[in-house]
Formats: sequence, C-alpha cells, structure tokens
Amino acid sequence: MEEHNHDLIIVGAGPAGLCAALYAGRSELDVVMLEAGVPGGQLLLTELVDDYPGLEDVGGFELVEKMSNHAKKFGVEATPGRVEKITRDDDGYFLIDIEGGARYRAPSVVFTAGGTPKRLEVPGEDKYMGKGVTYCAICDGAFFKGEKIAVIGGGDSAAEEGEFLTRYGSSVTLIHRREELRAQAVLARRFIEHPKTDVIWNTVVEEIRGDDNGVTGLALKNVETGEQSELSVTGIFIFVGFTPNVETVGMHVEHDSGGYIKTDRDMRTSIPGFFVAGDVRSQLVRQITTAVGDATTAVFSAEKYLQELHDKTEAKVPPDLAQERQAV
Ligand code: NAP
Repeated sequence: MEEHNHDLIIVGAGPAGLCAALYAGRSELDVVMLEAGVPGGQLLLTELVDDYPGLEDVGGFELVEKMSNHAKKFGVEATPGRVEKITRDDDGYFLIDIEGGARYRAPSVVFTAGGTPKRLEVPGEDKYMGKGVTYCAICDGAFFKGEKIAVIGGGDSAAEEGEFLTRYGSSVTLIHRREELRAQAVLARRFIEHPKTDVIWNTVVEEIRGDDNGVTGLALKNVETGEQSELSVTGIFIFVGFTPNVETVGMHVEHDSGGYIKTDRDMRTSIPGFFVAGDVRSQLVRQITTAVGDATTAVFSAEKYLQELHDKTEAKVPPDLAQERQAV
C-alpha cells in the first residue's frame, strides 16, 4: 500500500480547511490537505457572501478562489483524495485510508469535513440553487428584502431561521408536512405569533418553479386532501435537517445529540491529536467567519501538540545520545 507520512493532515478544503492550510503552511508544518472534490465546501453553493468582514460583496466561488490562492501562497494545495476511514494506530498516530488504496499517517489531524444540508429532492431544487433556493438564512436572508419567502420544515431551524427572515421578507410562509411543528414551543410560538408569518400545514412542495431570474413560485400538495395549489415566492429556504459529515471517523469521539463533534475552546476533541474546526463542530452558529476562526485555533493547538510530542520523544533519548546530537 502507498503510504504518506506527515506531521499534520487536514481533512476537507472548505473555508475551515483552507484557513487551516494557510496557517499550517505559514508555520512551515509538514502538512497535507485532503479533499474529495473541488475545494470550497458549502461556499460553492453560495451565490453571494455579504457578511465576510472586509469583503462587502463577494461571490462564493470567488471567495473560495481567494482562500485557495492564499493557502497556496504558503505552500499548501488540496491533495485529491476521498477519505474512507480515519483510525488511530497503537502508537497514537492517525491512519487515513483513501478510496483507491493510499494511506496517510500523521500524529495530528485537523478534521474539517463540514456538514450537508438535507435536500428536499424535488424538481427545480438543483436548477434554482443559489437563485432563490437556499439553505442558510443568515447567509442569504438579506438578498430577499421586501420579497415573499417560503420556509420548508417544522423543526427548530425552520422556526428560528424563519423568524429571522421576517427582518427581510415582506412575508414568510412556513410549509410543513404535518399539522404540528417539531420545533421547541418557544421557537414555534415566536414564529407563529409574528405578524409577517403564516403556516401552511399538511403540505409538501412538489416542484420549485422559476424563470431566467430565479424562483417564481412553488407547486404544493396537501397530503391529507390531495389538493394541489401554487404559492408565489421568490425565496425558498429549506430546513429539513443538516447532517455533520462524521461517517469517516472510525474512532469513538465525543459528540452531541446531533452527531456534531464536541471540542474545548482550543478545538481539542476527546482524542488527543484530533482537532476539529468548522461546521462539523458542535457550536452555536455555523458561518464562514466561525469556520475560519475555529481553523486558526485548531492549527495552533495542533502545532502545540506536535511540539509537546516532540519534547516528550526527545526526553526519552538517552543522555549520551542527546549530547552527541547537540555536538553535531
Ligand atoms: P430537524 O429537527 O431534523 O427537523 C427537520 C424538519 O424537517 C422536521 O420538521 C421534518 O418533518 C421536516 N422534514 C424532514 N424531511 C422532510 C422532507 N423531505 N420534506 C418536508 N419536510 C421534511 O432539523 P433542524 O430543525 O435542522 O434541527 C436539527 C437539530 O438542531 C435539532 O436537534 C434541533 O433541535 C437543533 N437546533 C436547535 C436550535 C436551537 O435550540 N435554537 C436551532 C436550530 C437547530 P417532521 O417533523 O414531520 O419529521
């Protein structure tokens, strides 16, 4: 088997991975960044970013390019590789097996595999993604000022983000497949009692419709009566769940009830040497800014961990050999 040894492996090349690469490269660590697809992560699904400090309006793709080039400037580029399994060897080193047979080995990992918003999987969803179809209210809400917005889902995200969207939309209509919200009572009440909101119960979206300018409306179906209807909206925010990408982690690592990996404030997990940054981490809010903040901390923590490991190894060297090394 083809084996590659490094001091640090970064898994994922979204904003967190790219920022980790920048700092690891800048610190001249022996690092590799593994990415299954093209770098960018969720950012590639974002048409326009208007909340990254210093860049008032930047395209998602353009920001990815800037971040990739910045990491490259410090010597780190994404290495293609779909991670299949991450395990830990008896000596504490991490083994990362890649589809196709290669293996990467390192004493430290910064895991930034992100998460995936669940799709509705209806016609029009892919076609109008970034053109009215979105999965993030904080990122995209401001693009729908004074427009009619639909929110899909009945959980905490739908209720909370839906209420947030009332700042922008002229109306926010929540469409839920049952007649009861799953959301916590306080979030549900806040949404329902807001003067700009309404709820369409027992209803699913059958199709997202649009034209060259983006979304124009939704084809709906009442699941109780079978009655079909249309709703005119220009923005559709889908909150039917989000899955952290943790399936490759083949070790027990502490996580919250949603599967997000728990860290301390220094991005350390329950496994020494395994650091986590970005959307896959258990935290209050998931933004590009939080991802890059996490990644910065994670790399400095990894560097400290590697130094401590190095110091311990040196301490084990017999005194005569240590003297010999100093003399060289
Ligand atoms: P969630 O709790 O899994 O809710 C997903 C919602 O989408 C459910 O109402 C579900 O309907 C609906 N749904 C799923 N698939 C669907 C489909 N194909 N078509 C139509 N509707 C569909 O997800 P979430 O709201 O993103 O929350 C995820 C986790 O984060 C939860 O543990 C939540 O408590 C937590 N969270 C907490 C807060 C907070 O405390 N402030 C805020 C956000 C999220 P059914 O109800 O019929 O299953």
